[in-house]
Amino acid sequence: MGRLLVAMILTSLLITSTSPIVTAQVGQPDIVQEHWYHTYATLTLDLNEWADDYPEIVNLSVVGQTEMGRNLWMLQISDWNCFDLLNSSPGCEHYKLDGERKEVVYIDGGHHGNEHLGTELAFLVAEYYIEGWANGEQEVIDVLMSTELHILIMLNADGNDFDTRWNVNQVDLNRNYGHYWNTCDSTQPGSAAFSESETLANSIYMNEVVPHADLYITMHTGVWIMLYPWGKWPEQPSDWEMFHFIRDDVHAKISDIPIRNANQGLYPNCGTSRDYGYGVMGYPTFTFETDDEQFLLGTVEALSDRLGEELDVMRYLIQDVWYWRARLIVENLEIKGEQISAHVTNLGHASTANATFHYYDMNSNLLWHSENFGVNATNESKISMDATNLSLVNDGFWTVHYQKRVIDSSQWVEEHINQSVIIVNPASKVFLPAPSLFIYLISVITAAIARKNIL
Ligand SMILES: [Zn+2]
Repeated sequence: MGRLLVAMILTSLLITSTSPIVTAQVGQPDIVQEHWYHTYATLTLDLNEWADDYPEIVNLSVVGQTEMGRNLWMLQISDWNCFDLLNSSPGCEHYKLDGERKEVVYIDGGHHGNEHLGTELAFLVAEYYIEGWANGEQEVIDVLMSTELHILIMLNADGNDFDTRWNVNQVDLNRNYGHYWNTCDSTQPGSAAFSESETLANSIYMNEVVPHADLYITMHTGVWIMLYPWGKWPEQPSDWEMFHFIRDDVHAKISDIPIRNANQGLYPNCGTSRDYGYGVMGYPTFTFETDDEQFLLGTVEALSDRLGEELDVMRYLIQDVWYWRARLIVENLEIKGEQISAHVTNLGHASTANATFHYYDMNSNLLWHSENFGVNATNESKISMDATNLSLVNDGFWTVHYQKRVIDSSQWVEEHINQSVIIVNPASKVFLPAPSLFIYLISVITAAIARKNIL
């Protein structure tokens, strides 16, 4: 429906337009997109059309080239308008109305050039949010006001054009990442980790643009399954609670698609973007494998219907991205003499193990930090800890410093603790001057004794 509308608008624009992209677009019938897979050329046209038509929500950029020089197109989709009422700095398009940083979701497709359904799923996710926004769908509007989607639909454009798994150097790009590279029985991992321009560009984007992503999905085709880390080891990942929660929730609400750790669910594999995304970047990651019945083309079934269930799983993962990390809320923090007691709730579905409280003076000099504590996923902790070396100052402030997930590589965050939940026990206030008063009394008595001795 949305596409038809766009096509009609474009047709009317065509009368005055001289853009070759628009001309080519109008010449492309709907069936090319709905019943056939994208080539690099048709994808390039579609992405540029989106960027031209919806600049309010679509940023299109080139984040590298394939080995043969084709562009790696990156779609960034969010509501980029600056809604910030707080007169915030440039870049406020990355923030929500309440001043919090938007959630970030990273998606790629097309590592393997012959896995067209997976690549199309990445395209359909982008299309769902762009057309949904254009059609005024509330779910989509809400998501794009709070979330940035970064989608690289076709990583291996050279392989896609040749319809092969490999890139032009005959490398399996999904064995070429810098996480235990070439330590499994895998074929064609390349001459070194990130030897290929495609994987190198992808890792640079992860590290430089979306290091704070709270979801990374890489899309493939073969076995109908979703795979979470690890591929390298049979053991469950450190954040198994989060992965198991997602598995159970998807099964209860959306789809029966099997969801397993990659090593056991498929076979041991190393140097994958999924294990890199989790083990090095600390993201929650899934390899989303569509089924392998991708060559049944020319049927009446549209791709958007064909992959409807998979798209529903993606909508769920994106809509709930706020929960795919630890979310500590300090309910109260009470300072009682040389002890601190605190009540901390974790609203997220990931646990955190190495949290600390920090105390700063008004110039942000760190004056004190607590010992470590942990809070399990969707749980709460009542913490009691030593505060012997803590001395309060005027206008000091508190933060809680923790990792978003348990895995070592996961990002650290530091969040302010609302002043209103800090309780300085009045008894300790009265008690605090007492030692010096006591010392004063002793010195008076000592002085009296001394005088007496003199007398
Ligand atoms: Zn694949």
